[in-house]
Amino acid sequence: MTNTTKNMSTEETDIKYMKEAIRQAKKAAEAGEVPIGCVIVYNGIRDKGDRKKFSDKTKTEFMGKVIGRGYNRRNTDKSTLSHAEITAIKKASKKLDDWRLEGATMYVTLEPCQMCAGAIMQARMDRVVIGCMNPKAGCAGSILNILEMDGFNHKVEVTRGVCEDECSRVLTDFFKEMRSRK
Ligand SMILES: [Zn+2]
Repeated sequence: MTNTTKNMSTEETDIKYMKEAIRQAKKAAEAGEVPIGCVIVYNGIRDKGDRKKFSDKTKTEFMGKVIGRGYNRRNTDKSTLSHAEITAIKKASKKLDDWRLEGATMYVTLEPCQMCAGAIMQARMDRVVIGCMNPKAGCAGSILNILEMDGFNHKVEVTRGVCEDECSRVLTDFFKEMRSRK
């Protein structure tokens, strides 16, 4: 872990990486795509017996680092699978050389949909930090809460509302701009 990250509080770290996710969202906007961005950071796997200790499965070379980035490219790729989160998950898995993203935290500017929430669960991700909520399609608390649902063998820790205003402004600015072009 880098010294700058080590000395930061969770809140400061969350803001730092959400701003990176916002940078990804802006790339989507530049491509004429709905601006949604995502980054995945690796924090190491905790020992199941002693949660204060890191498991020997931890890939120390990636500790405290961004292992995947993504932004919405649905129209560009002509693919329903090209959501920011799926792209970031693919990249993170490639980097860790593992489909399991245990020990990782996702920062995403907009509440994930059912597909992405499903992929986050399948990847066994530790935590998801969300910018703004999506009342009409979100599946991390709005329509459904797939990430924290009882009955599944895995639960994801969720933090909501990090840089909320900035995340929603990126979206509203984009739609305003789209409307003015018509
Ligand atoms: Zn999605």
